[in-house]
Amino acid sequence: MARGKVYLVGAGPGDPELMTLKAKRLVSEADVILYDRLLDPKMLDGVKAELIDVGKTAGRHKLSQDGINRLLIEKAEAGNVVVRLKGGDPYLFGRGGEEALALLERGIHVEVVPGVTSAIAAPELAGIPVTHRGVASSLTIVTGHEEPGKNGPLDWNAIARLGGTLVVLMGVSRLEKNIAALIGGGRSSQTPAAIVEKGGWPDQKMISGTLANIAELARMAKIKPPAILVVGDVVGLSRKLAKKKIAILRPAAQQEESRKLAEAYGFLPILAPSIALVERPLPPDLLERIRAAECVAFTSANGAALALKNEAVRSSLAEKMIVAIGPKTSQALISYGLRPQVPEEYSSEGLMRMLSGKCKHILFLRSAQGSQYLSEGLRSSGLLVDDIPLYEVVASHDPRLDELIKMARSVDIFAFTSSSTARNLLERARELGLEKELREALDCATVAAIGKPTAKELERLGLKVNIMPRVFTFEAMLQALKAEV
Ligand code: SAH
Repeated sequence: MARGKVYLVGAGPGDPELMTLKAKRLVSEADVILYDRLLDPKMLDGVKAELIDVGKTAGRHKLSQDGINRLLIEKAEAGNVVVRLKGGDPYLFGRGGEEALALLERGIHVEVVPGVTSAIAAPELAGIPVTHRGVASSLTIVTGHEEPGKNGPLDWNAIARLGGTLVVLMGVSRLEKNIAALIGGGRSSQTPAAIVEKGGWPDQKMISGTLANIAELARMAKIKPPAILVVGDVVGLSRKLAKKKIAILRPAAQQEESRKLAEAYGFLPILAPSIALVERPLPPDLLERIRAAECVAFTSANGAALALKNEAVRSSLAEKMIVAIGPKTSQALISYGLRPQVPEEYSSEGLMRMLSGKCKHILFLRSAQGSQYLSEGLRSSGLLVDDIPLYEVVASHDPRLDELIKMARSVDIFAFTSSSTARNLLERARELGLEKELREALDCATVAAIGKPTAKELERLGLKVNIMPRVFTFEAMLQALKAEV
């Protein structure tokens, strides 16, 4: 091969699944890949090529454009198949044209591969169609960061008069000036406006308001590049079309599984563990207490896993009547070869009905903070109840929880999967001095409780409950939410 070839490839706005098939194939076949720091590293998973980060973040160029061009030429002339992977589409404010010309000048083959541009995809992923019949029939895309000294700077007066939808890329640092120019040019300050940060990334953020207040809102929400400003009546459509943001407060170990489920149901998950689980040592008389009980009850998959990793506990349970509260707990027990019974209703009455005539002495293996609601009900019906705490539920100290509390106003749904998730969320808000704001946000949002004890605790904390699923699993809660919101 006399000379290598360069592919200028659009990688899409951030989500690796929004790369084109051609981009994916070229990335897997390339000898060398030059990419920008803004790309999700997952796009390069399993790639054999030499990877060169030419990382351009706003205001901080790792390699100058000339440097990038020189490197492309050098790698191609050495006979490599070179992929220049660029965010969004290579020819929209991506300097792809410049790179292509520089290569052609040296007689190097170059081929451009279009990508999904953030100019359309970022608003779209935030629930804003850039055109909409009867609302906007044109789209104008401009840069908000005109290079100084360039001939023919943007005519903001003309842009202000255009109507339709305006999308401004690279506009974070000059946001206020650009908005002032639009209003100065005659666009009403009441025109709806939104900013979408990191569209298509797991931490996508969207704020909306009007031209009059969007800059202030952006400052409060600490909007950072990459972000897009959208101006026009189409912004209003996001109220219906945007994915609902759901705060997931479960312990860190369950976040990933929950994120996938929430996304599958069409929600935008915000991961914010409010609790963490700390294992407790098993008491020395554990086996005797298991022997003494007629049945052993588990209230969570976590509890089941902690107890059953112990060989002696496993064998002592083999012949016992085992009770699982909820289908997930049951699944965990089944995976250890046990055959648990599940009460139809998660309440002491439901449990009593199931145990009646079969068990007078029950042992709970569960969290130290487990709700007393079950055991008290059983005791008052005359059962002998023993309780062994397997783990402690403690505050998570996770910075993501603090972030959530600060942006609570923009959350549509709070998903409480245990009473402790609610207690710790409020407790942390109190520590941050934001309890009042959080309570207001909870008042406006949809509040879901996974089951009765959680719902009771929410009421005790003075919070309302909008949704409780019939089956007490996270997935059933998402289904119930989907039907409702
Ligand atoms: N060629 C790219 C744009 C490059 S200019 C494309 O077609 O998408 C860089 C600007 O694009 C950023 O300043 C920001 O305004 C916008 N941008 C890129 N990715 C983005 C994303 N995921 N979310 C929001 N804006 C994004």
